[in-house]
Amino acid sequence: MVHENLNGNQCEILLTKASTLNPDNDPNTIALTKGSWVKLICGASNEDLISISDLCSVYAAAGVNCIDVAADFAVVSAAKEGLTWVEKHLEKKRPWLMISVSDGKDIHFRKASFDPTVCPKECPKPCLKVCPTNAINSKLGISKDLCYGCGRCLPSCPFGLIQEKNNILEIKDFGTLISQTLPDAVEIHTAPGRINAFEECVKEIMKSQVQLKRIAVSCGLENHKITKHQLSKELWARFRCLRRYKQKPIWQLDGRPMSGDIGIGTSRAAISLLEQMHSIAPPGPLQLAGGTNEQTIHHLKAKDGLAGIAFGGMARKLIQPFLIEAQRQNKKLIEWPEGWNQALKAAQGLINPWLNNDNKIHYKFPKS
Ligand code: SF4
Ligand code: SF4
Repeated sequence: MVHENLNGNQCEILLTKASTLNPDNDPNTIALTKGSWVKLICGASNEDLISISDLCSVYAAAGVNCIDVAADFAVVSAAKEGLTWVEKHLEKKRPWLMISVSDGKDIHFRKASFDPTVCPKECPKPCLKVCPTNAINSKLGISKDLCYGCGRCLPSCPFGLIQEKNNILEIKDFGTLISQTLPDAVEIHTAPGRINAFEECVKEIMKSQVQLKRIAVSCGLENHKITKHQLSKELWARFRCLRRYKQKPIWQLDGRPMSGDIGIGTSRAAISLLEQMHSIAPPGPLQLAGGTNEQTIHHLKAKDGLAGIAFGGMARKLIQPFLIEAQRQNKKLIEWPEGWNQALKAAQGLINPWLNNDNKIHYKFPKS
């Protein structure tokens, strides 16, 4: 039995012993134990099906261990199309497919919208410039498929015309979605004070009777006004819940959610959360997210106990120019080999430092 008074290292030792008794040869599980795990976050509200299929093909070929997509039948099917293409053409092993759900209101699960007919004619349209996915058209408004809810357009409108809307799958529908889409893993976005809703989610997920490799739990400190010890208590409550249902966790430490993941600031926010939580988090793999980018690995002062990283905004941004050009040519990226290869190179540049890491890099946490 794992005790809450054990520190992170002691828990890690117990977990390592447990995994020795029950060896799992899945390379994605092994990556979690080696610290070389990399996940692509397609976006919990990203419903741009062509881009998702292409994104999945590029990052699966580059070698990610997991691809995390929105809880939507069409999105899962687009992701599978990209993964099947890679398996067939490149004979590469599939990464896990993870579906993201939420146990309550969450900024990852929203869309922006406005009515373009009421926009004043004299407006210089600043909203068009800030959207990273070109989802905004001044005549048509916001494309639901292209908007992934980053929120950058919300404060940009001088007339306050852009609103956010929840884009969330109801908990009662989780079981059906999972039994029909058969993902390898599910991620539950959660927040402090929502343990009952979290347990409801797990119960509904269990109704699907799909054997999941992991249930990831995504949470952080930003926007919640709690201390690291309060966050630890919240995660421990979820750990006990997952154990009751015999599920294995991944703890996704969401440093700076929906930050766009650009620059040193967001990278440091993600690392700071790891440094605060690594010794007080429950047992199980810790994975960075929310603010991660190509600089993250260089700013880590320590890596002991870190299972890996998830890349979202930065991973998508790198591939975006190739997706746009392919769409301009009226093609999928996989139908444009030159572009696909360049996109693959860009993806490898981002994730290779982690894949090649293999515990060869050993940082030490600074003494606190
Ligand atoms: S800026 Fe972000 S929230 Fe606004 S339309 Fe574009 S993707 Fe959606
Ligand atoms: S900034 Fe506001 S008013 Fe101007 S085009 Fe965008 S939504 Fe319309």
